[in-house]
Amino acid sequence: MKQVKTIQEMRAARRGLPAPGFVPTMGFLHEGHLSLIRRAKAECGSVVVSIFVNPTQFGVNEDLSRYPRDAAHDLALLAGVEADVVFMPTAEEIYPQGFATSIDVGPVAEPLEGAMRPGHFSGVATVVTKLLNIVQPERAYFGQKDAQQCVVIRRVVADLNIPVEVVIGDTVRNPDGLALSSRNSYLTDEERRRATALSRALATARQMVEGGEHRASVLKDAMRDILSSEEGFSVDYISVADPVALNEVESVGVEVLVSMAVRVGTVRLIDNALIRGS
Ligand code: AMP
Repeated sequence: MKQVKTIQEMRAARRGLPAPGFVPTMGFLHEGHLSLIRRAKAECGSVVVSIFVNPTQFGVNEDLSRYPRDAAHDLALLAGVEADVVFMPTAEEIYPQGFATSIDVGPVAEPLEGAMRPGHFSGVATVVTKLLNIVQPERAYFGQKDAQQCVVIRRVVADLNIPVEVVIGDTVRNPDGLALSSRNSYLTDEERRRATALSRALATARQMVEGGEHRASVLKDAMRDILSSEEGFSVDYISVADPVALNEVESVGVEVLVSMAVRVGTVRLIDNALIRGS
């Protein structure tokens, strides 16, 4: 496994790689990341993983400075799944003095996470575009855990004609349902237990749709009841939306994206499910 830090080194390493798949991450790796890397390994000739905590996707009051980091553990995990190249640039390497361009993604970046985190998706779109230009993979792998991010990246890749195939991997969960996230490390044991309410709310919505309930407002009320019965929860949003345009829908059609963001104490968690209506 080759470790590179500069863009020049990354480009040099790329020249020797057959049909690379690429998995961009912010590190503090867990089974969710590893599932994407294993899939890339199975589907591509080689795999590049980046670890870069991208400052431009964090708001001023967000957790950039305390975002969890453990490079040694990450490298051990990456060796275990036989990543070929690990790209770990500094912020100065990605954003040198004078850097000024950013991508405005348009309507799919506006609701949900975009409304709660102004500028977040511009930061995501810009850094992912830069990483794709640097690594030039054949395929790039993202997790359904960050559903709106997947929609945003598909939009950017299509609109800017970036020659890469976007692949979305399923959300990996703990056995109790909690979606894996680097931010789960901030939770106390008690918060961690309560945080299973997010996946329970999604499971309830799925069961209700399977039982014939198609009214979005009824689904949202049921999910809100589950979430608000937990102490210390503050719901940022509960959404039942079109999975491509991300606008709220009144009733469940062929498929909807059910998503939520919840503050559990000081920790902000997101989760989602794609639910088929017919
Ligand atoms: P992050 O390091 O949080 O930026 O995540 C890097 C990639 O891993 C993104 O494409 C995420 O959507 C994906 N990812 C994070 N958590 C999970 C999970 N629990 N299951 C599947 N993919 C995930």
